[in-house]
Order: sequence, then C-alpha cells, then structure tokens
Amino acid sequence: MKILVINCGSSSLKYQLIDMTKEEVLAKGLAERIGIDGSRVEHKPSGKEEVVIEKPMKDHKVALEIVINALVNPEHGVVESMEEINAVGHRVVHGGEKFAESVIIDDEVMKAIEECADLAPLHNPPNMMGIQACKELMPNVPMVAVFDTAFHQTMPKSSYIYALPYELYEKYGIRKYGFHGTSHKYVSNRAAEILGKNIEDLNIITCHLGNGASLAAVKGGKSVDTSMGFTPLEGLAMGTRSGDIDPAIVPFLMEKEDMTLDEVNNLLNKKSGVLGISGVSSDFRDIEGAAENGNERAQLALDKFASRVKKYIGAYAALMGRVDAIVFTAGLGENSAEMREKICEGLEFMGIELNKDKNKVRGKEAIVNTESSKVKILVVPTNEELMIARDTKELVVK
Ligand code: ADP
Repeated sequence: MKILVINCGSSSLKYQLIDMTKEEVLAKGLAERIGIDGSRVEHKPSGKEEVVIEKPMKDHKVALEIVINALVNPEHGVVESMEEINAVGHRVVHGGEKFAESVIIDDEVMKAIEECADLAPLHNPPNMMGIQACKELMPNVPMVAVFDTAFHQTMPKSSYIYALPYELYEKYGIRKYGFHGTSHKYVSNRAAEILGKNIEDLNIITCHLGNGASLAAVKGGKSVDTSMGFTPLEGLAMGTRSGDIDPAIVPFLMEKEDMTLDEVNNLLNKKSGVLGISGVSSDFRDIEGAAENGNERAQLALDKFASRVKKYIGAYAALMGRVDAIVFTAGLGENSAEMREKICEGLEFMGIELNKDKNKVRGKEAIVNTESSKVKILVVPTNEELMIARDTKELVVK
C-alpha cells in the first residue's frame, strides 16, 4: 500500500510518498511560492537524483499536478502510474472539539474543517486547498485528515479551560487546544517501544523543541496537558513567539506605543521569542553561535528558553504525580546537546540525570540518561508524516 502524505501551507505543499509495506519513503519534496512569482518544486526521489522543477503554479491544484507528474515521471518518478497511490493523508492543523482522532474525509468532514477555520485562519484554509486539489485530481482515492489538535482532546477540562467567563468557552470555543499533537503522539509511543514498556504504564513528558515549540504531559499514552493553547502562541518562548506573558502587556503596548491589534499580534508572533530577546536571529544555531562569542542577549535568550522548558517539566511532573521519561524531539530537541543539558541541569533532585557523553548524540534515537537516573531521558526524531500515513492506512484498510 502506497500513501501520499500532504501538508499544505498558504503558499507551500510538502509531500511524502510512503510505501507502507516497509514504511519506506519513496519520495519527498516541497512545492513552494505557490501563487507568487518563482514557484518551484524540489522533488527528492529515494535512490535517484534530486530535481528542481520551476514552473508557474497559480494554486495548490497546479502544484499537486506537478507533484503527481514528478512521482510518475519515467526518469525521476518512483511509481509507474497514479493508480499506485492507494490513499492520501492530509495534515490538518485545527480539528476543534469535533475531532479527537483522524477521520476519512467526506463532505461532512470538509464542512467541519471549514467551520474550524475561525480557530486557525492561517492554517485550515490552506489545508483545505490541499484536500480540494486532491479531490479534484484523484477523485476515487480515499483521503484521511490527521489533526494537530486531536491528540490533546483527551485533556481534562481543568487543563483546557481558561479562567475567563465560562460563557466565552461556550460561545466561541475559547479553550486550550494544543498543537504538535501528531509529533507528541509519535514520540511518546516510540519512547515506550524503545524502553520496551507498555505506554499505558508510563508518564512521559514530550518536548517538541523546534522553531515552534511545545511540551506535553502524556499519561498512559494520553495527553493530559500541553503548553500551546487556544493558538500556538501560548507556552514556551519560541523562535519568534513570546509564549506566556502577562496579558496586561497587550493593552499597555497598544496605549504606549499606539499600536493596533494587528501590530501587537504581529509583535507577539513574529518579533518576540528568542529573536526578540537576542536581537540576533530566530534560529537557535545562530543564537548558540552568538552566545559562544560572548553576546549577552543571545545567552539570555537561551537561558530564558531553557528556564521556561524546565518550569513546564516541573509543572507536568507535579500534575502527573510521577515522571518515567522525558523525550526530546524536533530541530533543537534532536540536535542540540547543549540545550538538552541546560534544560536537565539542576533537575537531579527529581531523579532526572543526564549522561553528558551519551547526550552528544544528534538526530538519532538514543537513551541519554545515566544508569542511576530514575527518569529515562530520550532523544527521538519526530516523524509526523509516518504517523499520518499510519493513521491513513488504518482507516482506509478498515
Ligand atoms: P519547525 O518545523 O517548527 O520549523 P524544526 O523542528 O525544523 O522547526 O526546528 C528548527 C529549529 O531547530 C531551528 O530554529 C534551529 O535553530 C534548530 N536546530 C536545528 N539543528 C540544530 C542544531 N544542530 N543545533 C541547534 N539548533 C538546531
């Protein structure tokens, strides 16, 4: 069975074609600058040379057509015809309270995804464009939607309700939803497998630390709390997002700096986080480099980032009553030994002991705690595409 995994942004379309018999990636790639000048597809077939296709793409449908042509091309293709693609799995950012798991896409589901667009105006509409394009180009191929929010739908109400007038939750659905769910689910399950334990018996804290970053408290395989909220802005300090701040800062800024709502929104989402503190970059590699060269604000940004992660680890340990494992994933979590060390430093009293030698690992699965550490510490590269393909297969084969 071959599954095409699609992840659409407003001007991009990421894809992977996965052969599910061996869970092997046959090809992957990215169409970018859709709808603007300079559209291109970077197509990477496994075992063959990478190609770049530069062609105007007015919308996601044209982009998908080019992707499908690349997949079946005699030279750089990986399948003989489109008929070999048995199903398509779509990443959908927001499933609101409607979707606690992945679903086969039908008209009703499409309508529900559209209804969730209010909650994720930047993400759900492009996700829908990908779904529409597939529906038009491959009308007989079953499609599945895998939601970023679904894994967190198991949170108890005490975790997801905000201390706001309750009617706002009822009227607008203002509550914590959480994101990166596919990643938190994948790495927590993978950690249990690596440890040879049943996930039902484990309390795990998963740390997805990339440009966007979030933690989840995963008790017995179920998310019971997560750091992102109503939107991805809550929680950790991120590449450019502020994460938790005193909400009173918003009206203060609007008054003192004469800012509009849009401007404040932009400041909190695009100009804050480690970029805002350091003034150097949103990329942790640049910030780590600057800090090594003595840049104090870069160092402060790293200190702030680590301290926020540490605080969430403490909070989630308290919430779950016990921690069996901490898992690091995503760009920074998988690759930065320095950041993992900084986060774990001083947590020995909680039974969290990092083995500095083992922690030198980058981008590979590894157990990096000491022999005596009560809490296991793991590095697990995330694989959201595989998780989407697995869910798709399960639903389509049923
Ligand atoms: P996203 O998918 O949210 O864009 P990623 O998971 O790809 O994010 O993570 C990107 C971040 O990971 C970058 O900001 C980069 O700073 C960080 N990163 C990647 N490799 C390294 C590394 N070797 N050392 C430190 N940070 C790294």
